Amino acid sequence: MVAAIIFSVMLIAGFGWFGINILKIRSNILLGRDIDRKDKPGQRWKTMALVALGQKKMFARPIPALLHLGIYVAFVITQVELIEIITDGIRGSHRIFMSSLGGLYTLAISIIEVLSVAALIATIAFLTRRNILKLPRFKKPEMKGFPTFDANLILVMELILVTCIFTMNGADEALYLKGASHASHEAGSFGFAISSWVGPHLFGGFSVETLHILERIGWWGHWVMVLAFLNYLPYSKHFHILLAFPNTYYSNLEKKGKFTNMEAVTNEVKLMLDPTADPYAAPVADATPQRFGAKDVNDLTWKNLMDAYTCTECGRCTSSCPANITGKKLSPRKIMMDTRDRLVEYADGKRKNGKDYEDGKSLLGDYITEEEVWACTSCNACVQECPVNIDPLAIIVDLRRYLVMEESKMPTELTGMLTNIENNGAPWQFSPADRGNWIHED
Ligand code: SF4
Ligand code: SF4
Repeated sequence: MVAAIIFSVMLIAGFGWFGINILKIRSNILLGRDIDRKDKPGQRWKTMALVALGQKKMFARPIPALLHLGIYVAFVITQVELIEIITDGIRGSHRIFMSSLGGLYTLAISIIEVLSVAALIATIAFLTRRNILKLPRFKKPEMKGFPTFDANLILVMELILVTCIFTMNGADEALYLKGASHASHEAGSFGFAISSWVGPHLFGGFSVETLHILERIGWWGHWVMVLAFLNYLPYSKHFHILLAFPNTYYSNLEKKGKFTNMEAVTNEVKLMLDPTADPYAAPVADATPQRFGAKDVNDLTWKNLMDAYTCTECGRCTSSCPANITGKKLSPRKIMMDTRDRLVEYADGKRKNGKDYEDGKSLLGDYITEEEVWACTSCNACVQECPVNIDPLAIIVDLRRYLVMEESKMPTELTGMLTNIENNGAPWQFSPADRGNWIHED
């Protein structure tokens, strides 16, 4: 009875706190400007199914893709066992579905156990890649400190979770063989794929009392790790487990390389070209002048901000970025990490001090430098590579737009090119009248 009450309190507190954090992240994302991504629902569902559920883009690199798939499938399927843990926890029962599901129950737990072993192997491989093999993309400057700790912490949590599952099932198997399991007072075997073999080897020599304690440690450990994982997610890059789905659904479906028009400029041009427009008409009363481009996170769209929360920090974008490869300061992964960090700081400031609060900082300048912004070749390789359809280039372009249109700041090479376009209709220094001169050259 006491255990059931403790369990229920943990359940309500754990899921309640998670819910509060989800709402907080939602309101942070909605600080971004509006953008319409409701068109072509069929194509959007298909993109989500292929990219988020099917992990299509991950398979460009098959080995990490298979390891990731192992953890991902195990994570999803083991949640089935969680249904039983929650039901048992509230009711004070033990393996409540075993008698009603019979062979199906054995099959379900066996699948979970096999997948848990796959997840265990993948987790060890990921820890090895990060900490022993030290893959270059995990050692870039933006990965120092918390990002590396975060990645390792989640992997360690997964190890503990899998250990708890096998401690719980293995000790219970040993108890069942002695006719002392709470699941059945008869002696027998559960017949689970892994623990029915491993359990007696590991735990067979322990007394019934010790086995009951071990089984409970595994069961409660599993439950505590689930709640810890759930409530750590919103602070971690692993939040992509949830956001990958909406983020790929709301992907940019336009052809890569097609730049968006700036609404304010488009309206201005339309006005200039419209012979019936009144150039002296008063502006709409509640129209707030919009900034050209983006200086801070609130100038970006909600999709840019959702991208930032979805970034898995895998570094595939950075490892294929020509600017980064050739030693420039730019890393598209850092662009996304900076955007998320600044968004959290900006939103927390508003939440604590009121919506008019300004902290005097901005994404451009305090987080992302002009040098980084101008190092981009706008090649779209980062967009192409991203396994969850994030678009770092969209943010870079808006930061550039702000620099050019609001601050008239740009590299001298660009100033010359833009002057030439203005004067000559082409980026070169020649007059349009001289364009045909090459015909007369020997
Ligand atoms: S678009 Fe820019 S940031 Fe992205 S890969 Fe190309 S150069 Fe790098
Ligand atoms: S933007 Fe995409 S590719 Fe780059 S680190 Fe984030 S998830 Fe990985």
